[in-house]
Amino acid sequence: MKIRENVPISKLVTMRIGGVAKYVFELNKELEIIKARSEFKARGLKKYYFLGGGANTFATDEDFNGVIIINKYSDITIEELPGKEVKFTVGGGCKWDDFVDKTTEMGCTGVECLAGIPGTVGAAPVQNIGAYGQDVSKMISRIFVADFLTGDLKWIEADDCHFSYRKSIFNGKERGKYFIIKVEFILSRGEISGELYGSLQSYLDEKNITSREPAVLAEAVRNIRDSKLPDPEKIASSGSFFKNIYVMPEEIEDLDKRGIPHHGTKVNTGWLIEKSGLKGRDFHGFKISDKAALVLINDSAKKYADLERAVEEISEIVFDKFGFRLEQEPNVIGKEDRK
Ligand SMILES: Cc1cc2nc3c(=O)[nH]c(=O)nc-3n(C[C@H](O)[C@H](O)[C@H](O)COP(=O)(O)OP(=O)(O)OC[C@H]3O[C@@H](n4cnc5c(N)ncnc54)[C@H](O)[C@@H]3O)c2cc1C
Repeated sequence: MKIRENVPISKLVTMRIGGVAKYVFELNKELEIIKARSEFKARGLKKYYFLGGGANTFATDEDFNGVIIINKYSDITIEELPGKEVKFTVGGGCKWDDFVDKTTEMGCTGVECLAGIPGTVGAAPVQNIGAYGQDVSKMISRIFVADFLTGDLKWIEADDCHFSYRKSIFNGKERGKYFIIKVEFILSRGEISGELYGSLQSYLDEKNITSREPAVLAEAVRNIRDSKLPDPEKIASSGSFFKNIYVMPEEIEDLDKRGIPHHGTKVNTGWLIEKSGLKGRDFHGFKISDKAALVLINDSAKKYADLERAVEEISEIVFDKFGFRLEQEPNVIGKEDRK
């Protein structure tokens, strides 16, 4: 376990916003979380926060008087199951996209449309990452965790994770309780069946690509993403900053009357932001991407306080125009940490 002191959180997160963390513990081995618990207690700390690649997290400006625990354990074990299925057991610290590469290299389908999503395997179940018609929850069979309060180790079955759109027990009722050590996925060799996500299909048509091989689709998804999403290595952001909004089924008629695009009960929030005239606009050093309206780019800001002001102003403008309240996707250290 590597222990660091007085680490700027802004250097650990892709939005580059946050005060200083008193400690960072980096765990490289599977069960080092047990050691981390003992260190946490021995140092008399009260607050902790689990972090992966920081692609969906930033922190308030206040110093964080506790420990940020980062999972870097990244082993992948592969087991061929009878038939076409393959079981992957993957350390939570593995880079998500490296795992996707591994699966597509082996000709497995299930996560190819999630190619290019920044961050770690351990964080993927937390907000049930999704893109281009796939959700990670569909491929997870179970998750190995440590209960940080009791030190108990256990497997949680996928059914008990209560996955839904950008939700699971890990960012819901059990937020901050379980440290995700490794994730077990079951994928099948073969190709995606059924209709592809609209913009993915259009891209393939445009390029005359007819193959549905997982590696081909993964590359197509990465190309589409590169053309509109900021590269976290070069441009500070947390990806989609606002969630899509869900309405009640009885509200769909009203959406249609008002010409607001939706997919079932899911309202296209990016459209609301765009039609509020906000694409490309700057708010306190944060810019709404002119390529993808859900994305907020940190152009020049240094403070969380500026982000709060920006979000408040953007939300107000959208609410005044459409009557919908925007909901933030990323997590904020310092606002939700366990005490
Ligand atoms: C450019 C860009 C594009 C993006 N595109 C998408 C997209 O298409 N779809 C999508 O769903 N998301 C997208 N995201 C968001 C982000 O990539 C995902 O949420 C990803 O899963 C974050 O991984 P991370 O390791 O960086 O998580 P972090 O930001 O480090 O953590 C996220 C949450 O998971 C918790 N967590 C992390 N590791 C553990 C662990 N080991 N145990 C328990 N809890 C843990 C944290 O406490 C936090 O609550 C995008 C982000 C960026 C910057």
